[in-house]
Amino acid sequence: MAGDLWFAFKGDRLLVRDGEGSTGLAGNPAALGLDVIFEEEIGALDGRRCFAAEVDGDEPKDTSFQDLRSLFGVLDERFFVMAGRAMQVITWNVMHRFCGRCGTATDRGLETYQFFRVCPKCGALYFPRLNPAAIVLVYRADEVLLARAPQFLKGMYSTIAGFVEPGETIEQTVAREVREEVGIEVKNINYFGSQPWPFPNSLMIGFTAEWAGGELRIDPDEIEDAGWYSADDLPQLPPRMSIARAMIDDFVSQHGPDPEDPETPE
Ligand SMILES: [Zn+2]
Repeated sequence: MAGDLWFAFKGDRLLVRDGEGSTGLAGNPAALGLDVIFEEEIGALDGRRCFAAEVDGDEPKDTSFQDLRSLFGVLDERFFVMAGRAMQVITWNVMHRFCGRCGTATDRGLETYQFFRVCPKCGALYFPRLNPAAIVLVYRADEVLLARAPQFLKGMYSTIAGFVEPGETIEQTVAREVREEVGIEVKNINYFGSQPWPFPNSLMIGFTAEWAGGELRIDPDEIEDAGWYSADDLPQLPPRMSIARAMIDDFVSQHGPDPEDPETPE
């Protein structure tokens, strides 16, 4: 149907149109000559139906398969979020073809948008897996704690993050991750907002927290550097659109130099 939006993946790479300065979706993969292994309607944007598709084949003319992570900040934000949803629905389908309990091939649950597979033999249900993670901006007076993990882009610093463990509240995750990664205690843990993060299957749940005690002592297995930064002297930050950046920008708006102030003369 005209106007449908297709989020077609080969592995974890999304099929996009090679544009002049702009990157967009490529269109219906079957019409472009690709083999469609799996497809599923996953929602709508502005009244246009959205489909996830797992595909195989060579890149059609004027298109390319690109790593979804590399499209963060490049693809329209709503398209990026829907592409993340598509990737997770495809992963769910791939990972639950067989029942983990009895090994029988599973069937698709029938309701549209209710993503589940069901085992016809033992009745086990398989929903898309989501891994909640806490991400926390820690502050001490007018300074913010920023840290670098080895896998970050060169020079970039960000907030502390980690996955929720079984039996934990999200607030306990916040306190534990901060303690483990940089050796300090926090208090006044407050919810900030959340962001779906499909690398892989996460929901980032953002908090602010105030330093309550301790000196920075980093865990070298997870963190290579960390420090307290004032709003007017920040290192390289995560890209816009990320919840980490939103939290840092919010901190800067409260603690940064007043943009109305005239420059101090040299
Ligand atoms: Zn079963």
